[in-house]
Amino acid sequence: YERTFIAIKPDGTERRLVGEIIGRFEKKGFKLVGIKILHPTPEQAAKHYDDLKSKPFFDGLVKYFSSGAVVCMVWEGKDVVKTGRKLIGETNPALSVPGSIRGDLCIEVGRNIIHGSDSTQSANDEITLWFGETEVT
Ligand code: ATP
Ligand code: MG
Repeated sequence: YERTFIAIKPDGTERRLVGEIIGRFEKKGFKLVGIKILHPTPEQAAKHYDDLKSKPFFDGLVKYFSSGAVVCMVWEGKDVVKTGRKLIGETNPALSVPGSIRGDLCIEVGRNIIHGSDSTQSANDEITLWFGETEVT
């Protein structure tokens, strides 16, 4: 089965949305195979979003992602990369349909509560970045 990397960003954790978000992935039918909570360093955040380093919002993004506790997860299931992104919604919460996580639970693109890998390749890279081999089941 396919795997993806999902992270609840500092605002999602601060707003106590961890249970809500995990519940949505579980109810859909995906299986949680790795989970931990940590406060990322700016270096870890920059590495995670390395592909966006030329964007004008990059510095703010690194600050945001390293501003508090992040819940790092690996989820498994059929088409979980693509379907996980559907559960999450669009990058901009204003464009996310109600029923999606961002569509229901946030307002600002710069505080959009959750990350999901955008391809199987980036999923593999991100799982390797955030998890050791013995930390996933
Ligand atoms: P993520 O990678 O976090 O799942 P995404 O894949 O939907 O989000 P990306 O283009 O990868 O979107 O952007 C990464 C993150 O950068 C966004 O989730 C958001 O937090 C932030 N971001 C993107 N565009 C903007 C913007 N125009 N202004 C501020 N922040 C932005
Ligand atoms: Mg992305």
